[in-house]
Amino acid sequence: MHNRLLLIVAAIVIALPCPALAAGKLSVVTATEDLAALAREVGGDRIDVEALARGYQDPHFVEPKPSFILKLNRADLLIAVGRELEIGWLPPLINQSRNGKLQPGAAGYLDASLTVKILELPTGQITRAMGDVHPMGNPHYWLDPDNGRRVAQAIQKKLSELDPGDAAYFAARYADFYKRLSAAEKRWDGQMAPYRGTKIVTYHRSWPNFAERFGLDIVGYVEPRPGIPPSPGHTLDLIQEMKRQGVKIILVEPYFDLKTPNAIARDTGARVLVMAPSVGGEKEITDYFKLFDYDINMLTTAIKQVTGK
Ligand SMILES: [Zn+2]
Repeated sequence: MHNRLLLIVAAIVIALPCPALAAGKLSVVTATEDLAALAREVGGDRIDVEALARGYQDPHFVEPKPSFILKLNRADLLIAVGRELEIGWLPPLINQSRNGKLQPGAAGYLDASLTVKILELPTGQITRAMGDVHPMGNPHYWLDPDNGRRVAQAIQKKLSELDPGDAAYFAARYADFYKRLSAAEKRWDGQMAPYRGTKIVTYHRSWPNFAERFGLDIVGYVEPRPGIPPSPGHTLDLIQEMKRQGVKIILVEPYFDLKTPNAIARDTGARVLVMAPSVGGEKEITDYFKLFDYDINMLTTAIKQVTGK
């Protein structure tokens, strides 16, 4: 978005009154639809939730809109994925919202990554050298349901802190979510059990938490590094490796070009699956449970077909 437009919106924002806790509900804005889904599980009808990025967008590269600034200006709480996932678009919006409650470190800012299990933590110097967009460890951690559980608990604590009168309600909602999630995990584990150890390739490093949780073996990536587009040399190496290891599944996030994955698939006999890494990635994925239902159904169906198992 153009800076001039941002300035105009910022000017409007300053002029607006700040209707905190209007109608007795906390106004929650989340960076992604996954976090919105988890906030809804815990907050129920005591909060209003809106996500900024859509689930079919690459969460690293979201085009900021003036409406985002207005939403942030009115919010009591902002929940971010963290680990620099949103570093390219969210910090300027927080600045321009002129909402002191949401500044990092303030009571109305929740970094959801602080209580979860983070994979691929960098060793040694932390850097975004060569454009790697995962300098703080892998930020796609919500694809392990146990991390979803931890995020929900952090949200429960934060909502109770901001609205102590509804603390018992949030605690009951979290307990119910915990129970339903545990039951769903048993179902997902059962579905995935026959396919543990299946070798796959993915476009971006969106799936390490998912793979670790459900026993998939990721042998390579279409991107040479997170955020760096495929190169011919890397693609040839990947094809060789896939042939050597007999990899028949390529997972692609909905926002990537299919040209390279399709070419790799033609050469290796693998199948390309466009799998949703987020709530809202497909129309029917309307909550956190449906995200795993959708992905695990798609994945197990495909593995069955390519392996004949
Ligand atoms: Zn990423």
